[in-house]
Amino acid sequence: MAGEWERYLRQQIELGGAEVVLSRAVNRRVGESEGRSESGSAGSTAEQSSPSPALRPSGWQKGCPPIPGPGLSVESPTHVLDDELVRLGTLEEVAERIRTTHCCALCPNRTNAVPGEGNPQAKLFLVGEGPGATEDAQGRPFVGQAGNLLNGILEAIEVPRDSVYITNIVKCRPPQNRKPLPDEIAACIPYLHRQIEIVQPKVILALGSTAAEAMLGVRKSLGELRGKVHTYNGIPLVVTYHPAALLRNPNWKKPTWDDVRIARQLLDR
Ligand code: URA
Repeated sequence: MAGEWERYLRQQIELGGAEVVLSRAVNRRVGESEGRSESGSAGSTAEQSSPSPALRPSGWQKGCPPIPGPGLSVESPTHVLDDELVRLGTLEEVAERIRTTHCCALCPNRTNAVPGEGNPQAKLFLVGEGPGATEDAQGRPFVGQAGNLLNGILEAIEVPRDSVYITNIVKCRPPQNRKPLPDEIAACIPYLHRQIEIVQPKVILALGSTAAEAMLGVRKSLGELRGKVHTYNGIPLVVTYHPAALLRNPNWKKPTWDDVRIARQLLDR
């Protein structure tokens, strides 16, 4: 099914590619008609109606949904950021704290903690649920099958993976990849709050209901939470399906494609 999603994304990219090829072909014809008309009279109308290269839509913009209205507005609970955590001024300091301490029952069983990775000046900040087996083995987020899908999605919206920051709600792998428990989330989420404070991204994308519910502090279905622009400490937050969920249910690919393009538009705003 991963192949199916990749084919779908490739098709979207190719559609955009086709558009570019078409507009190039139109431009060539405009050029030709300009060449034929040495007087300069012909071609001027076509030239005026042909968009400049900078204005031509990218593949992901084709059929892009409009930015939806506002949803929930939440502030991070500052009281959970104990003084010590607030004093950690860089992502590396936060990562080092995560790697060297145990904050809940998940920590003693980890191979590696997975603090997160990416650009400290990222405009897009992605939040997943928790590390899986591959992430636990490597100490890096989204490097397994779900990560491959995520890379494809980022590529399709023309956002290089190394330009974003990626992390999870909990930084240690839950046994058998079960959902993290409320007390595990409560113990670990201060790290996420601090990471967001340090990065100050333009847009947050919550991947899946665990991330969405934990960040927005509500118990609601993913269907209820997506399709709106929430705000987290004033930062626009978009909710979409977890990439791993797309492997199980192909019907969620289209809504995911719409959600990520909403986030992409917010980056340009
Ligand atoms: N699933 C997640 O939620 N996070 C990862 O890092 C990998 C898989």
